[in-house]
Amino acid sequence: MFQTFETTADPTQGAERLTRLRGEMRAEGLDGFFVPRADAYQGEYVAECDARLAWLTGFTGSAGFCIALADEAGVFVDGRYRAQVRGQVDLDAYTPVDWPEIKPGPWLAERLSSGAKVGFDPWLHTAGEIATIETALKRSGIEMVACDNLVDRIWSDRPAPPAEPVVDHPVDLAGQTTAAKLDALVERLRDAGQSAAILTAPDSICWLLNIRGNDIPRVPVMQGVAIVTDAGKCLVFATPRDFSAVAPGGDTIAFADVADFAEALSELTGPVRVDKATAPIAVSRILEDEGIEVEWGQDPCALPKARKNEAEVAGSRAAHLRDAAALVEFLTWYDATVTQGGITEIDLVTELESQRRATNALRDISFETIAGSGPNGAIMHYRVTRETNRTLVDGDLVVLDSGGQYADGTTDITRTLPVGDAGDEERAAFTRVLKGMIAISRARFPTGVAGAHLDALARYPLWLAHQDFNHGTGHGVGSYLSVHEGPQRLSRLSDVPLEPGMILSNEPGYYRDGAFGIRIENLIVVTEAVRPATGDDRAFLAFETLTFVPIDRRLILTDMLDPGERDWLNSYHRSCLEKLSGRVSAPAHLWLTRACAPL
Ligand code: ZN
Ligand code: ZN
Repeated sequence: MFQTFETTADPTQGAERLTRLRGEMRAEGLDGFFVPRADAYQGEYVAECDARLAWLTGFTGSAGFCIALADEAGVFVDGRYRAQVRGQVDLDAYTPVDWPEIKPGPWLAERLSSGAKVGFDPWLHTAGEIATIETALKRSGIEMVACDNLVDRIWSDRPAPPAEPVVDHPVDLAGQTTAAKLDALVERLRDAGQSAAILTAPDSICWLLNIRGNDIPRVPVMQGVAIVTDAGKCLVFATPRDFSAVAPGGDTIAFADVADFAEALSELTGPVRVDKATAPIAVSRILEDEGIEVEWGQDPCALPKARKNEAEVAGSRAAHLRDAAALVEFLTWYDATVTQGGITEIDLVTELESQRRATNALRDISFETIAGSGPNGAIMHYRVTRETNRTLVDGDLVVLDSGGQYADGTTDITRTLPVGDAGDEERAAFTRVLKGMIAISRARFPTGVAGAHLDALARYPLWLAHQDFNHGTGHGVGSYLSVHEGPQRLSRLSDVPLEPGMILSNEPGYYRDGAFGIRIENLIVVTEAVRPATGDDRAFLAFETLTFVPIDRRLILTDMLDPGERDWLNSYHRSCLEKLSGRVSAPAHLWLTRACAPL
């Protein structure tokens, strides 16, 4: 199993480690010190050696940070982790803080006086993040001070950084050679008059070099940073390991020890392009200290990586059909088993992963499967543990959100399943969520339209009933890379215009606290729309659906669908049947035929 159900928190060490951290703070003349969950790469998953927040406090959530002061230590966590943090930290030593409602700047200003110094490791915070805190502290006289990582000093048995093998990502899947990608990037640098760009996102580097790695769970990347110069050289800095399997492109690409990165930065000439949102503030500080001009600009790989080429889209289609066949085997098992009773959330996760493994192509799951039954379904980022594991009972809805990492593509799918007969209110809400999902699937929109403009389409049927959901409608998805990839999103916060090749999730939902949750998620890819006979002569875009797994007909109130929506669903189910018929077992084929019957 990739997924585990244990909670590894150890609150018993927290107080003693905090005492030692405070000793280091005093030695440095600091009144506070930041311990973020993030590492230098600002991704969702960190290596064991970077799990400083968990090591210090016991809190293992995927976001948050601790600010240690002389007599108080706040553990800042968002809404997902309010309950978890209380179970994981020693509450005599640490104080949970509701973040982002309470922000670090004002929290510090309330507790420290003018002249106080708060330390942070400049490799673990972005320039944008530190700027926000410094702005909030402006009138307080409290100073943010970059310093050594004090946790690393007291963490004597800290694991070594990962140095897993690096493998080639074949060009027939990548669709473009490293040389071609590098040429295009260099041309953009020259056009912008920039002498170099700093890449600090591992998925950008792996995309550029057509390589994949295994340094962290769920995201198949090698951790590293890179400098690309306008002379066409790419210098990659990573923990030393065998790079011979990669050998990408002659003398234009070289590998060096990540320990040498800072020195290489100081030898550049400006202007150097740095991404304010993702690069550690150490990068811009080193450049500025050397008098090298910094130009803030988006990671130059972000957009080309987001615009999938034909080979990547073809790979994604193949990965989705393979994944869908595994899902259909799972759903066949589910319907045959759930009626017998006694099935738990962990049983669902285990069975689903074993069906994906049976494809013999699964490299990893793309994130921890969310299997939330009944009230657990209302917790949007629920992850089942031995302590929270719940037995399914009649009348429950189950939100099942999962995905796989395959060499040809990354998948992410949510289906909501009934246990026995679902109530009318649940079915009405499910049908509204479905109408929103269909509205996005069928949308046509002119070029220039961004996620912010489309987000409301997914919510409109819910809004009419005074219902809504507290997450974005969709996120970008990588090509055998991160399941959450920017810069495009379907969200009222996203002004990035959608472009052909961009893969997104389409995942409206509805959540009633303490009662039930609903989410339906397909992945979609932006395509050029075919112009209807009467259409204007201007460029329109549309979405092609990538996910083909039936949507549970037992949860649909057919009368609430308009004829166009019903046609879409019937045609979608016809496609599911056609595409998956030859890929599933005999019992699953029988199940599929029933599940795809027209409404
Ligand atoms: Zn999902
Ligand atoms: Zn998703």
